[in-house]
Amino acid sequence: MLHIYCPICERYCDETELVCGGEAHIIRKDVTNNDQEFYDYLYARKNFKGVTFERWRHLFGCGKWFHVSRCTINNQVFGSYSIRDSRPPKSLLTKIKRLRVDFKGWIK
Ligand SMILES: [Zn+2]
Repeated sequence: MLHIYCPICERYCDETELVCGGEAHIIRKDVTNNDQEFYDYLYARKNFKGVTFERWRHLFGCGKWFHVSRCTINNQVFGSYSIRDSRPPKSLLTKIKRLRVDFKGWIK
């Protein structure tokens, strides 16, 4: 079972309290004139294998959204941070690089 830190409640939660909202940091673009770009914006996701950044909601707690970094291979959770952050904090990226030599850095 995943134990993820909610930065709003400032406590660790079981995954049964949370719901995953999918890939984080999706950039909203003006794609109203192009159906394929609009489709990609709505549905196309990268489906990373390895270190990923996701949106999670503390559904049975504060109800707030936040970001989580975890590995999709072994479910190792590296950390969480505010939904308002447009990119992962440097301290989290440094931690991931230290723990995972195969991590190439955050790319967006
Ligand atoms: Zn919470």
